[in-house]
Amino acid sequence: MSLDGAYNPDNIFAKILRGEIPSARVYEDHAVLAFMDVFPQSRGHTLVVLKEHPARNLLDVEPQPLQHLILGVQRVAKAVRAALRPDGLVIKQFNGAPAGQTVFHLHFHIIPVWEGAEEGPHASGQMADAAQLAELAKAIAAQIS
Ligand code: AMP
Repeated sequence: MSLDGAYNPDNIFAKILRGEIPSARVYEDHAVLAFMDVFPQSRGHTLVVLKEHPARNLLDVEPQPLQHLILGVQRVAKAVRAALRPDGLVIKQFNGAPAGQTVFHLHFHIIPVWEGAEEGPHASGQMADAAQLAELAKAIAAQIS
């Protein structure tokens, strides 16, 4: 899907938001939901999505929900850092399939980085163990402030 087009309410994150498919939830407030990526590019790879606004990408969203989203990203990133003590954190966001976007519901990636460790492939590879993701989600959630 290019940058143009309509929001599809049946995308996988919309289904997660509606509780139609499971996710390892980390944090939720009135505006955002954070949950573990099932194809983690590193241990603790977390996604943050907007709840109410049907935006496909960064260009679609209004300023106020975008503010809530980026503040949610910062809050969750701090909790990831506190829980896992990575050496660095990558914050990523893709717009349009040619840019690498695979789920067309606006979201940010929080990817912890440890020196010497390579980042895993994007949106592919080995699906993470659900129990391990649940444990990570719990550890990160315990550090939300
Ligand atoms: P993007 O390619 O930026 O749209 O990112 C979509 C992300 O969603 C990828 O990192 C996928 O690994 C991840 N993903 C796909 N399906 C699920 C799912 N059911 N639960 C959690 N993460 C998912």
